[in-house]
Amino acid sequence: MEKKNKGLIITLLCVAGVLAACFLFVGFSVSWSGENLNRIMKTGSVRCLFSHEWADATCTEKRHCIHCGREEGELLAHEWAEATCTEARHCSVCGLTDGDPLGHKWVEATCTEPQYCSVCKATEGDPAGHKWIEATCTEPKHCSVCSLTEGSAAGHNWAEATCTEPKHCTVCGITEGSASGHNWKKATCTEPKTCTVCGATEGKANGHRYAAATCTSAKRCKDCLKIEGKPLGHNFVDYVCTRCGKVSITASQVPQVLKLTNYRFRINSVGGIETYMTFKNGSATKTIKYINITVQYKNSVGDVIANEINGEKSITYQYVGPLGPGQTSKEYYWLHFYNSSFSRWSIPEVEIIYMDGSKLTLDESLAAYICENVEIIYP
Ligand SMILES: [Zn+2]
Ligand SMILES: [Zn+2]
Ligand SMILES: [Zn+2]
Ligand SMILES: [Zn+2]
Ligand SMILES: [Zn+2]
Ligand SMILES: [Zn+2]
Ligand SMILES: [Zn+2]
Ligand SMILES: [Zn+2]
Repeated sequence: MEKKNKGLIITLLCVAGVLAACFLFVGFSVSWSGENLNRIMKTGSVRCLFSHEWADATCTEKRHCIHCGREEGELLAHEWAEATCTEARHCSVCGLTDGDPLGHKWVEATCTEPQYCSVCKATEGDPAGHKWIEATCTEPKHCSVCSLTEGSAAGHNWAEATCTEPKHCTVCGITEGSASGHNWKKATCTEPKTCTVCGATEGKANGHRYAAATCTSAKRCKDCLKIEGKPLGHNFVDYVCTRCGKVSITASQVPQVLKLTNYRFRINSVGGIETYMTFKNGSATKTIKYINITVQYKNSVGDVIANEINGEKSITYQYVGPLGPGQTSKEYYWLHFYNSSFSRWSIPEVEIIYMDGSKLTLDESLAAYICENVEIIYP
């Protein structure tokens, strides 16, 4: 039993010795560097116990051993690249950012260029394209935005001047000069004042201006001579038309108007021809107011002789009435004509004026019929 205990004691002493050595080693290691020990344990490398392998410091890592990770010194500063349109300020080494990208400074698209960034020249989309405005009379087709033109102006489409409108462009309405004005033709009886060019009218037709119908002419327009109806025809009373005074009498009817019932002549000592006449009113209804009887005196061969007082070759004597219907006047006497060569006489004209205003004239072909003879020879 003694021997057995002795062996056990030796064994226990050996174990204790080993354990003590181990504890000693561990204790040493821990006291050298707990951290290094950890790394060594991680990497499984024990070389760093003798020398580290260093990696240079960066902006994110200090100088350090690539094996055990032991660090030294400080981090390096970041290497900042300034912000751009699309990228924020950042470290060119580690990529750390600071703030946001600036964003593009867009310049709007033009007719021919797309939208672009004034800073980085980046583009986006398509050019806007021209906004074409069609050609006008005076301007060519052009872009309302950039004024680019294409082709030429269309030119005016002129319409000639009319009475009321000046020469003008039918497209844009621009005018040149003035209206030509109407070419008026005066109004007539049936048409108003009318323009011979455009037919415009003004006012009204004048209407006819009729002259009343007479015995011999129908009612007639004084202006256009248009006739309406028929002439009235004469209305003879005692051989005289009551309307127009026209006389219609035959030689044989003359005594029914006037009769020279007596006539005689006497030449006085100085060649004066004393003329005596007596009249009978042949009318049954009318009273005579005046009788103007024109007389010519002739010589023995039938030539008319002149009044020595005034050179006249006829003389008109006036009988003053009244001389009622069927009445005979007293003898009348005149002494106004002087020419001693008197031998015969004739009656070129007799004018009978009645109280009613009517008048009956007997010309040379009829006047003599108031006497029995056309020509009276004296003595
Ligand atoms: Zn190391
Ligand atoms: Zn960095
Ligand atoms: Zn940009
Ligand atoms: Zn344009
Ligand atoms: Zn025009
Ligand atoms: Zn006109
Ligand atoms: Zn008329
Ligand atoms: Zn008449």
